[in-house]
Order: sequence, then C-alpha cells, then structure tokens
Amino acid sequence: MKEIKLYDTTLRDGSQGEGISYSVTDKVRIAQELDSLGIHYIEGGWPGSNPKDMEFFRKMSKIRLKNSELVAFSMTRRTNIKASDDANLKSLLKAGVNIVTIVGKTWDLHIKEVLKVTPDENLEIIKDTIGFLSSKGLTVFYDAEHFFDAYRANKEYSLKCLHAATESGAKMLCLCDTNGGTLTSDIFKIVSEVKESFRNSAIGIHCHNDAALAVANSIAAIEAGADVIQGTINGIGERCGNADLIPIIANLKMKLGINCISDNNLKKITQVSHFVSEISNMRLKNDQPFVGESAFAHKGGMHINAIMKDPHTYEHIEPALVGNRRRILVSELGGKTGILLRAKALELDLSKEDPQTKKILKLVQKLEHQGYHFEAAEASFELLIKRALKKYKKFFDLEGFRVVIEKQSDKKITSEAIMKINVKGTKEHTAAEGDGPVNALDNALRKALKDFYPTLAKMHLSDFKVRVLDEKSGTAARVRVLIQSQDEKDTWSTIGVHENIIEASWQALIDSIEYKLLKDNVKLKLTS
Ligand SMILES: [Zn+2]
Repeated sequence: MKEIKLYDTTLRDGSQGEGISYSVTDKVRIAQELDSLGIHYIEGGWPGSNPKDMEFFRKMSKIRLKNSELVAFSMTRRTNIKASDDANLKSLLKAGVNIVTIVGKTWDLHIKEVLKVTPDENLEIIKDTIGFLSSKGLTVFYDAEHFFDAYRANKEYSLKCLHAATESGAKMLCLCDTNGGTLTSDIFKIVSEVKESFRNSAIGIHCHNDAALAVANSIAAIEAGADVIQGTINGIGERCGNADLIPIIANLKMKLGINCISDNNLKKITQVSHFVSEISNMRLKNDQPFVGESAFAHKGGMHINAIMKDPHTYEHIEPALVGNRRRILVSELGGKTGILLRAKALELDLSKEDPQTKKILKLVQKLEHQGYHFEAAEASFELLIKRALKKYKKFFDLEGFRVVIEKQSDKKITSEAIMKINVKGTKEHTAAEGDGPVNALDNALRKALKDFYPTLAKMHLSDFKVRVLDEKSGTAARVRVLIQSQDEKDTWSTIGVHENIIEASWQALIDSIEYKLLKDNVKLKLTS
C-alpha cells in the first residue's frame, strides 16, 4: 500500500483566515489534537514574525508529541544580508524544532516586481538560506511559492529554483499553488514532470482553494507522484482557504487505498473537524462532506425506505468509518418509517403496531402543522420522543421569569432577565443581563444551573434564527425560532414556535440545555 505524509498548516497558513485568531493555548490544544489524529508534520507558526508564535514553540518544547513532528516556518533571508545575520532565520534556531520550512520565490514576476532582485540573486538567496539552516543540523523543507504560475511563465527558471534548494540540502520540495487558480489537469501534468526530474526528492503539494479545486488538486498531485500533502483542518486559510485535509484523508484512505493515518484515527476526523471549527469560532457547514451534520442525512420517504434495506443505496461510504452518523430526518415526508428508524437509532423500543408510535406520529404531524420543523431540529425531536415515552426526568422546573427591556432617550437599550427555577428541590433565584432578551434569559438560566450541571459551561449557542410563519395574520403571526448549539464534540439544533418570540425562544433554549444534559449523562449511540 502506498503511503504518503500529511503536513498540517492550520496553525500557520490556516490562522491567516479572516476572522481567525488563536491564543497560544488554542494553538497548543489544536497541536495536541493533530498529534492524536496521527498527522505527520505540524507547522506551528513563524517564530520570527511574532512573539505569540515564539511563545507557542516554547510551550511545545515541554510537551511530548506521540505521532507528529513540529515544524517552524520562515521565509528566505532578506536580500541585502547574509543568512547567518538574518534575525528571522536565527529565531528558527531558537524554536527547538528539528524541521523548518522555508518559503521562497520561484516566479520571475515576483522576483522582479516584489523582491526586486535579479533571477540569479534569488537563486543565491535560496542556496544561502537553506545551506545555513542545514549547516545548523536542521532538516529543511522548501516551499516553492507560486510554483505552478512560475512553471507556466518560465519553466526553466522555476526548475532552477528547485535545483538550488536540493543542492543546498532541502529534503522536501513543496510545490505551492499559492494563488489557488490552477486547474486539476495542469496540477497533474506539472507534478508528474517535476517528479520525473527530481526522483530523489520528496515532493509536496500545497494548494489554495480560490478555484474551489484545492482538495481535487491535492489528490491529483498525489496520483501524479507527490509524497506529502499540505493543508489545514476544514480548509481554513486566507481568502478562500487552503486544501481541506479532512476530505483529503478520507478520500486517500477509502477511495485510493493510500495510507496516511490509521483506520482507527480515521474515525476521529469528524470529531477533530468539529473541535477545530469550535476553537476557530467558525460554524461548520452542515453539508460539509464526510463530517457535516447532513453528510449522511436522509429525508425523502423513498430514500429512507431504500436506506433501511441497504445503506449503499444512498451513501458513498459507511458514516461510522469517519466517525459520523446516519441521520433519518423526520418530517411529514418521512412518515412512520422515519419515526421508527429515529427511535431505533436512539435505542428506544418502538414498533409499527405500537400505539405509542401512532401517538408520536400524530403529535409530530400536529406540531408540524403549527409550524415546527423537526428535520431542522433533531435534538428537539429526540426530546419529544423521550418525553412521550417518559424516558427522562426533567432536570429543572421553571417557576417563572421576567424580562425587562429598557431604553432611555438616547442611551443604549438594555435587557435583563430575572428567573426563578427549581432544581431537585432547591430554589434558585437569579438575574442576568444580555445583549438581547434571549441572551439575558440564557445567561440567567445558566447562572441558576451552573453549580448543578457544570458541563453547561462547555456549550454555547452558535446560531439563532427567527422566521415569521404566517405574515398575513399581523401581530398574531407565529414565529419559529431555531437555535443551534455546540460544544467541543457536537452541534445540535432545537426549535420553538409561538406567537410570542420570547416564548418561542425559551422553548428552543430549554430544549438545547436539556439535550446537552441528557447527552452528557447518557452517551447515546446514534450510529446504526
Ligand atoms: Zn499557502
């Protein structure tokens, strides 16, 4: 079985994505997660560029990684000094790593317009930089920036840059599609040609997603002979992002039979993807291939029927292999079969003839008629079945709440919630402010529950959607509130419908909290 190496740059290239800002602690936690996934190389950052990255390397020097090698990144030396005098390069020596990656120019356009040196001077810069670092005992990888554009513009010169790198000791040549615009057929052709000329060097590929081809391009490069793939978890990165390592790993292993991580670790990719999205403060798209909530969700009655007979009918892989799960979406469309399947996934005993099944189906239909939409709120559906079957005791009882919204002349509007609840016989009376009334309610409720249920601190609301259901009936129109919540492992959605937006939000909010508590106490097995 062919084996390739994975090189993760979430902490360096990925952290340049808009809206992403990692603390040193975040970076350490991500590195540990990548290590447990079995990623071969973790590019931790650019120690010369900022103190935060240097601090990260200092912290990491005390942590033993089981599977991964930590890599520090920098660029070739500045144009007018010797490599041994370059502060950026010197800080690499202090990073406590054995491997460094150096990015350098290969495209004559950049050399003339950005670097403003002659092509020969650029070759000298590459040699001096890599030679200096190799002489210090470091393993050096060379990232050939804009390689594919360079190759198209001036093939001979772009190859000279690679030769300069290998001659001065580079152990890997990574071909970068920095602008992300190259088509897959070109990637295949160019990587094949480079591999032909550099039989003895490891070839890497680093793709960006500006043409929505980063994953396909990375896989094509491997098929053309590349040995190492650079990418980020969830494809985060500047502009349209980097190649997403998650689908790359899944495709390599399951479609091409190429080894990169173990079968056991393959089952962790869903969790790692959710973990990184959580820490990056980015919502993972539901239709994210392999790992998204909807990746194996079936809705139509006909599909559900077929899936029950044989999952291959509508699934390209077995979801459990990547740690995801099959979901049967419930709606009027799914009918009784959907409810049965859903109950089975929750390990609840229901049969078609059971009067309970009929009762639940009736209830679902009644609620959907009122505007509930359970296919978008699986967690609420699960609670509905469990409540109907009296499968769990309530975690708390509401005695009452008040929400005060105050606006005085041109001052800021404020929201405060005052709440009385009863937890296992203990009365709690709390008050909290919030950005809006629902946030204030959420804060007051958590304040009341936090001592009883400490794991609630690990979840937060990640999305809040409100929709007016029947606009024609004026103020009496019902609103539907959908809340999405997440913790480090999962994402779940809950729903509330009412004429009053606060009541609708409250329903969705308590479902969200109850679901979290239920999930933490009883680990439900959802894979069928
Ligand atoms: Zn990049």
